[in-house]
Amino acid sequence: MRVLSTLLLILAVLPVCGQDPSPLQKAIDTDYEQHLWPLFDHFHRNPELSLVEVKTAARLAKELREAGFQVREGVGGTGIVAIMENGPGPMVMVRADMDGLPVEEKSGLANASTARQESPITGQVVPVMHACGHDVHMTSLVGSARRLAALKDEWSGTLMLIGQPAEERVIGAKAMMEDNLWARFGKPDYALAFHVWCGGKAGKLEVSDGSPYAGADAVDIIVHGVGAHGASPHRGKDPIVLASQIVLALQTLVARELPPRDPGVVTVGSFHAGTKHNIISDQAVLQLTVRNTSPETRKLLLDGIKRIAENLGRAAGLPEDQLPEVIFSESTPPTMNDGKLARRFRQVWTDKMGDQIMMEEAFVKKYKKGMGAEDFPFFTTDPPIPSVYFSVGGTPEGDIAAEEAGGTQVPSHHSPFFRIQPEPSIKAGVQATVLAVLDLMKKGN
Ligand SMILES: [Zn+2]
Ligand SMILES: [Zn+2]
Repeated sequence: MRVLSTLLLILAVLPVCGQDPSPLQKAIDTDYEQHLWPLFDHFHRNPELSLVEVKTAARLAKELREAGFQVREGVGGTGIVAIMENGPGPMVMVRADMDGLPVEEKSGLANASTARQESPITGQVVPVMHACGHDVHMTSLVGSARRLAALKDEWSGTLMLIGQPAEERVIGAKAMMEDNLWARFGKPDYALAFHVWCGGKAGKLEVSDGSPYAGADAVDIIVHGVGAHGASPHRGKDPIVLASQIVLALQTLVARELPPRDPGVVTVGSFHAGTKHNIISDQAVLQLTVRNTSPETRKLLLDGIKRIAENLGRAAGLPEDQLPEVIFSESTPPTMNDGKLARRFRQVWTDKMGDQIMMEEAFVKKYKKGMGAEDFPFFTTDPPIPSVYFSVGGTPEGDIAAEEAGGTQVPSHHSPFFRIQPEPSIKAGVQATVLAVLDLMKKGN
């Protein structure tokens, strides 16, 4: 029945595309029916939380081994590395993330997750859901592995596939790097990854020449004061007033210092101080998230935060050893695409998959506006590796059109109602990945 419906679908699409499906497309269609759909179904029903993707990693490892790769498990926790050596040539890395989220699935899908798992953070048993589409990424990685293994005669070099843990906590890529990834397995010449995007039309691609994901820094500011009775402010130094001045002055960084066409965000997400009405506290603590899409913007914002906090401390008359302390803790670099490589892939994809395969520029401009972060750049920033991180749309065109017309909103990533149309997303993910890899590794390059 499924084979028949696919056949009908292909026939229905043919006159629109005006193009026969390529042998690669046909092979992906067949593999989807026989292998990838059941695999996706399994992953979707059985999500696991960050750092405890134990069964997920085992299944992914088994799939990649069966596809002919040498697989090493337990890299940086539950991470896996699958290698296929195939003669001289570049080493190309393709990464998929594996973790689900502590969300109770309410998508209404037949294969909705009912999984529960003990959280490694709180110790509580919580519902788990693939609410970000990492099940699509893993299934596509397996699909790409199977196709590239079958097409071994057409490429030369070494293929490295990565199953990465804990992307949702932005710590998995770093953990794999700290487990000496490149020293143990070789450093890739190129790196690729994609994310399925619920805001994009299912099966369509999008790739930016610049930065598809922002860099994020967590900053803590400890504002010291001198405690006193609330009725005698002249006896103290009020850290709440000083911290409030800092919060307001920070607003000028993006508004007045950052060039208007360069994106950046400074958000004070937490402000804690004091215990009682009539006590002037001796400390206030601010917690910030800072977003950027370039190292220059990052430096401007972080330097500015330190300058503003310390100098307002001076203005308040604090001694040099009591100035506000600015602590930079977790940091994720921006994901930076290699522009030349992105343009090259866009060309390959439109040549091989048709002009309509790319999302319209105006659509992307209108809807891709957030400053979310990714931990993929931990693989590609230091040392730098030319890389491309692209998007694959995951929502039926009709649902997006309905939202645009003022109807029901498409559920966002991390929502309990999140639902991705797996077939076009996985097939496009596989085809785009395989075409990009073949372009980098084709024989005689
Ligand atoms: Zn996510
Ligand atoms: Zn995600």
